[in-house]
Amino acid sequence: MSDIETWEKIGIMGGTFNPIHMGHLLLAQWAMEEAGLNGVIFMPTGNSYMKDKIEMLPGSERLAMTRLAIHGRECFSCSDLEVKRGGNTYTYETLESLQCMYPRARLYFIVGADCLFSIENWYRPDKIFRHCTLLAASRDGAPMEMLEEKRRELAKHHGADILLMAFPNMEISSTDIRRRCREGRSIQYLVPDRVREYIAQNHFYKNL
Ligand code: NAP
Repeated sequence: MSDIETWEKIGIMGGTFNPIHMGHLLLAQWAMEEAGLNGVIFMPTGNSYMKDKIEMLPGSERLAMTRLAIHGRECFSCSDLEVKRGGNTYTYETLESLQCMYPRARLYFIVGADCLFSIENWYRPDKIFRHCTLLAASRDGAPMEMLEEKRRELAKHHGADILLMAFPNMEISSTDIRRRCREGRSIQYLVPDRVREYIAQNHFYKNL
């Protein structure tokens, strides 16, 4: 069991995780080392209202897969906060809850760097910026100067604290994994074995 109360720097890896894959896990690991985090809380979304619902598994199943994915890793934890909360999932609410639960910790929300260009359209972005440092991974060769410019703009207009980190490009996506399942192709090495077995046992993503 992770002793999160003792963590001073907590990473939060939020995601739809439909399903969770090796890219998500490596990103969390990378962020932990880059920012000197004590650990990372994986936070599967409840209702990702900005995402297509057609291929969406229930939160309880995405949560189960996330738990299997991080099994045995002391510095990784998994929270059911968003899945249990119900309604649309808003990151600012999650950050407020976590800040109450862990008042002495600094929160680091881990994201792909593209999100810097959309986060102002999320719900209550100012509250998001107030409660965390954004740890943004540039993973597809997006020019660092462009990201740096956006970082400065968000800092100026919203007081955002953003750390940019270079991250290797891994061509893994949940969309591709679901397509492979549908086509009866292997997803070995794209997701942890426990997750692969769970997906197979439950015939997920076959008939969507
Ligand atoms: P997701 O598709 O499951 O992805 C989770 C994270 O992993 C994203 O930051 C994504 O970056 C990154 N990622 C995916 N594949 C990767 C790979 N191969 N290598 C490295 N990184 C990879 O989750 P999501 O739907 O984007 O949601 C992310 C978080 O944003 C969630 O916590 C969600 O609640 C939050 N969100 C909040 C609001 C709001 O509050 N209004 C709105 C939208 C999203 P990319 O995005 O670059 O793929």
